[in-house]
Amino acid sequence: APVFHLHQVSKAYSNGVVALQGLNFTVNRGEFVSLVGASGCGKSTVLRLVANLLNITEGEIEWSDSEPQQKLAFVFQQPALLPWATVFENIRLPLKLAGMSRNKSRTKVQEAIHLVGLTGFESAYPRQLSGGMKMRVSLARALVTDPQLLLMDEPFGALDELTRTKLNHDLLRLAQQQHWTVLFVTHNLYEAVYLSHRVLVMSSHPGQIVAEVPIDVAYPRP
Ligand code: ADP
Ligand code: ADP
Repeated sequence: APVFHLHQVSKAYSNGVVALQGLNFTVNRGEFVSLVGASGCGKSTVLRLVANLLNITEGEIEWSDSEPQQKLAFVFQQPALLPWATVFENIRLPLKLAGMSRNKSRTKVQEAIHLVGLTGFESAYPRQLSGGMKMRVSLARALVTDPQLLLMDEPFGALDELTRTKLNHDLLRLAQQQHWTVLFVTHNLYEAVYLSHRVLVMSSHPGQIVAEVPIDVAYPRP
């Protein structure tokens, strides 16, 4: 079943740059979809439109859910952790901002910590963590809200190859087990093919989807 569908979506920025033109695609529940393409082809613009952080110029995004904005979580390349707060408090932040008490949120935070492999690091501070561990905190902070859709923008782009490979392995396993719905942006084709049920290939000037490639070998589509 579709989570959302882009119908003839175009985006022109106010400076006149036409970032996207006539995009059509669907993301289904439980599906891992990657957007690949060269820098500047419009991948981040797609994510920002889906997250409603930007206004669409033309076309529309149709959601199956009536309140999609409450169901989204974003993971960026920069983990953006609060430096003075522990791993536990960083991950709890979205629940705290939503007004959930410490007691109510504890179990959820601990579940997220366990899921991403941070058990034992609850009391650590960001400065004590490696880049890969910070990314795990960022992922856990996104997961703690039980998002229906996870938007990931080059999340592992700043990590060394070994760490990136390990995180890709863990992300694939988790996405399969937990049936996450993910829209993943990368310029790394290898990563896209490894992780995804489907890869959307974009071209530039203006950004368009020029190929849609099902990856049957990775794991069965929902
Ligand atoms: P990608 O994520 O694939 O690198 P972006 O979505 O960031 O691509 O950018 C697509 C195009 O839109 C680029 O030409 C970029 O320079 C332009 N662009 C992005 N953000 C803005 C903005 N806020 N104002 C004007 N142009 C922008
Ligand atoms: P709650 O929302 O359950 O009241 P808080 O997050 O407000 O919990 O506080 C939890 C603990 O974290 C408290 O001991 C508080 O002093 C500490 N704390 C909260 N924010 C900060 C901060 N910015 N720097 C250092 N300690 C903090």
